[in-house]
Amino acid sequence: MTQSRVCHSGLISWSGPRVWLAAVVMAVSVASGVLGAERPPNFVIIFADDLGYGDLGCYGHPTIRTPCLDGMAAEGMRFTEFYSAAPVCTPSRTALLTGRLPIRSGMVGAERRVLASNSTGGLPDSEITIAEALKAKGYATACVGKWHLGHLPRYLPTKRGFDSFFGLPYSNDMKPTPLIRGEQTLEEPAMLETLTERYTKEAVEFIIAQRDKPFFLYLAHTFPHTPLKANPRFAGKSPRGLFGDVVEEVDWSVGQVLKTLREQGLAERTLVMFSSDNGPWLIRGLNGGSAGLLRDGKGSTFEGGMREPGIFWWPGQIKPSVNRSMASTMDVFPTLMELAGVGMPSDREYDGRSLVKVLRGGKREDASFFYYDNAMLMAVRKGPWKACLVTRASYGPDRPKINKHDPPLLYHLGHDPSEKFDVAKDHADVVADLLAEVQRHQAALKPGTPQFDLK
Ligand code: MG
Repeated sequence: MTQSRVCHSGLISWSGPRVWLAAVVMAVSVASGVLGAERPPNFVIIFADDLGYGDLGCYGHPTIRTPCLDGMAAEGMRFTEFYSAAPVCTPSRTALLTGRLPIRSGMVGAERRVLASNSTGGLPDSEITIAEALKAKGYATACVGKWHLGHLPRYLPTKRGFDSFFGLPYSNDMKPTPLIRGEQTLEEPAMLETLTERYTKEAVEFIIAQRDKPFFLYLAHTFPHTPLKANPRFAGKSPRGLFGDVVEEVDWSVGQVLKTLREQGLAERTLVMFSSDNGPWLIRGLNGGSAGLLRDGKGSTFEGGMREPGIFWWPGQIKPSVNRSMASTMDVFPTLMELAGVGMPSDREYDGRSLVKVLRGGKREDASFFYYDNAMLMAVRKGPWKACLVTRASYGPDRPKINKHDPPLLYHLGHDPSEKFDVAKDHADVVADLLAEVQRHQAALKPGTPQFDLK
């Protein structure tokens, strides 16, 4: 028999009396109405790495046990059509933190698809991150976890609007894998088995320390990106094997964050969002995740590479619901700005649109969503229709081959979520409309200077 996991079980063993006392003090101050009513909300973004659309219980996984994320989804808004803006790490994180397609900032390359540990490029100074923008309202900001927007000192989170950083500068399969606090290396290589636990401790302590002022926490987990390492408390426990152990530990971490927000009396003034940077790394076999019924995975602009779990939680503000509107990580920037009362910069194009109306139960108007593989526009989606102009292998020896489609492959993602049946011949009008969207998009686009190949 498989034991079921329960969310929020047990105390945080490393918190100790100091944290417990802080919780008591907080409960008293909330009860006595010390907190100001006009304070803007707190924001927590929890971002997994290489977690697929099908890897959570609430998205249909049969054996990975994710009670905390399932509970977060049951209490919040769970999106079925939520996207990252790239099928691999660096550009996806760029889009999340800037609200813009990575090609606009130059977070693309000709040879490379992400920043490597010997890259000299990074997120250009001209870009504005969520953390930098929230600073205008006095937010306390922390980046905990994987960064991957440039590892040289000038590109680290502490230079991009974050008061503090504790984490890895890039992926856990890149050498020498330092664990950094601020701008100093703490250990090298980072001990991966305890990383999720240490990230969680850091996140919880930040929340408790900042409970009296608005804060923004970006908690970007290193896992389930390979190599997979689970804490001994989780290793060997999941029916899904090591991949499941690692995801279940991330789920525990989410539970600890939500539990802390509740204990501190902050749940109703904090928007928490959970997603993943890209789809499952299928070439990793059993150590890679699952995109469920979606086609392909990480590295691909088929749905499995870019459609992700997307859960928004904010007790008292977001009603429990499943939302089928199309949305993306690029929407997070304008959403947070609207909620914080920060005006959007007017000197640049934004690809995201605020989700505030949607989170309050309103309808969203269709807009085009563009799928990029590095600097190459691959596909466009509007409503249920997706036109694939170019396809290529996500990894492997066939990847250099670029397959152009004229007319594009056309999929109705409502009828055919697995992108199996090209119906372009039957819908010439839809194809023409989507091609016009592409033309408009490309005519107005100003690409930035490519960063990934700089050495
Ligand atoms: Mg990734």
